[in-house]
Amino acid sequence: MRILLLDLEGTLHTREGLIPGALEAVAELRRDFDAVRFMTNTDSKSDPELLLSLAACGLRLAPGEVFSPVAAAAEALTATAGAVALVVAPASVRRQLAERVPVSDAPDEATHVVVGDCRDWLSYEVLDRAFAALTAGGELLALQRGRYFLAGGRRRLDTGTVVAALEYAAGVTARVVGKPAPEFLRLAVRSAGAELDESDIYVVGDDPTTDIAMGNAVGATTVQVGTGKGRQPAPASRACRPTHRVASIADVPGLLQTI
Ligand SMILES: [Mg+2]
Repeated sequence: MRILLLDLEGTLHTREGLIPGALEAVAELRRDFDAVRFMTNTDSKSDPELLLSLAACGLRLAPGEVFSPVAAAAEALTATAGAVALVVAPASVRRQLAERVPVSDAPDEATHVVVGDCRDWLSYEVLDRAFAALTAGGELLALQRGRYFLAGGRRRLDTGTVVAALEYAAGVTARVVGKPAPEFLRLAVRSAGAELDESDIYVVGDDPTTDIAMGNAVGATTVQVGTGKGRQPAPASRACRPTHRVASIADVPGLLQTI
């Protein structure tokens, strides 16, 4: 089975709108592959909010074909008996998690601390609660651990900086549930009714440290687009080096038909 895993932000759209040719490319890729799944590390929105914002920029996707770190965190938490989550993320993300697992702000009740986007309301009080839960033995789950994201052409601090602060203070190491975790990729592949070992996997994205690293970790064919973070200097690490590079998503159907 040929399965294509496509990144969203930086690959199909930016915060300024759709990347030229993205809709046509997606339509063509849907014809060429047995299954197409969309994988994002967006941690500032719940899945329903994400689908609405994508539809608003012209990208209409079905709930079952989009994979977010919020859904991955829900999977990880429900796999642990008795899990209670202290959530450091937007209210909508908290609500989505609460549909699957108990959530609590009490550090002595929490078995897990889930960290996502919190730039609009983060405080030392919130950090201290998370820190208390971690020092009491809670596990740190990071929706993602990006260092920065791009908005309006500027780099801004991303969730990874908060994750790193909590790791440093509590002396723990976070488990990342979003990209580049191979388990996240496996979740998307299984949704297509396939197993990783029996499939040809192609990963397309703009971020070498997440999209490309995740694909490389499972032996997928990886394609880096030159939009979004693909405009930034490439990291030296071999783990982040793509199989192919193209200028933008518009070039991906042509490339994947030739290999
Ligand atoms: Mg991206």
